[in-house]
Amino acid sequence: MTDPFGRTIDYLRISVTDRCNERCLYCMPEGYKGWAQKADHLSAEQLVAIAAAAARLGFRKFRLTGGEPLIRADFLDIARGIGALPGLHSLGVSTNGLKLAPLAADLARAGVRSVNVSLDALDPARYRRITGGDLAQVLAGIRAAQAENLFVKLNCVLMRGVNEEDYRPLIHLSAELGAPLRFIELMPLSSTDLLTEKNFLSVVELRRRLDAESPLEPLSDYRPGHGPARYWRDRATGAHLGFIGALTTSDFCASCNKLRLTADGKLRPCLGRHGELDLKAALASGSPEALESLLARAIAEKPENHEFTDNYQPARPMTAIGG
Ligand code: SAM
Ligand code: SF4
Repeated sequence: MTDPFGRTIDYLRISVTDRCNERCLYCMPEGYKGWAQKADHLSAEQLVAIAAAAARLGFRKFRLTGGEPLIRADFLDIARGIGALPGLHSLGVSTNGLKLAPLAADLARAGVRSVNVSLDALDPARYRRITGGDLAQVLAGIRAAQAENLFVKLNCVLMRGVNEEDYRPLIHLSAELGAPLRFIELMPLSSTDLLTEKNFLSVVELRRRLDAESPLEPLSDYRPGHGPARYWRDRATGAHLGFIGALTTSDFCASCNKLRLTADGKLRPCLGRHGELDLKAALASGSPEALESLLARAIAEKPENHEFTDNYQPARPMTAIGG
């Protein structure tokens, strides 16, 4: 299906929970307690029913995210249900990696093919300061996922003065693992102290800096996922580096191909706008057509651009939308 701006929309990012076992500085407000009640979360059956309706409309790519998706007890049921949809092109998971090692084999069996792992630092103390989590567990998870032939990408959020010393070690790890590393600009998606101009580092500045240290060559046709990253290759190490600059890339939205589904059943046409469509009544009606029609409406309501640069004030934190 195409939206009013001619973009093909065939990618659904599904948040399965707003809860998390980490508390990243840029994602979760200090002392955050605004979790949705369990009863507000869609069931595995409801999530699969929405994905099936999307598949009938032509959606081919699905990603399960959160919050931290792997903490949901019935996560494998959700993955299996979506993994079995006809016409499926890809099923990925975005995770902080803490629970990846024990689950990697089950994920592969459930039909998951790729895993995006957040990795903001390689210094264990700094990793803990940023996320509250244990780096060794995440690294074990990445290796376990690769051992199961899951395609791993690494995600690192850019924070001036917080994790800059980690960028070069992360590039080396990316090369060693053969796992693309994507640098993500901070987005105003939460109300945490970290989201200030002072901490903002643009992908343009980072790319210039990296290129000056060790030349980068553009990989114009390389698109290992379905997201908005633009890729370069670090000639010295061979690492494939993606740059996701939602705030500073002028045509960032031109290739947008996705809708988002929140864990409490709202369809979001754009991450960087407040508009949402509630699917709960359609789910309660049990009518697959009602779901399809709301998905089609969300596509029709996709705006041309996000509003991040317009003094955007997040109404709910990233964990509650789904990254
Ligand atoms: N818990 C999983 C994880 O950390 O990968 C999945 C959900 S998380 C919200 C998805 C992605 O959003 C992560 O790569 C995270 O770094 C990114 N993210 C969260 N808050 C962000 C922000 N304010 N700006 C940019 N990226 C953010
Ligand atoms: Fe949790 Fe992911 Fe947000 Fe970190 S980025 S607090 S791991 S949802």
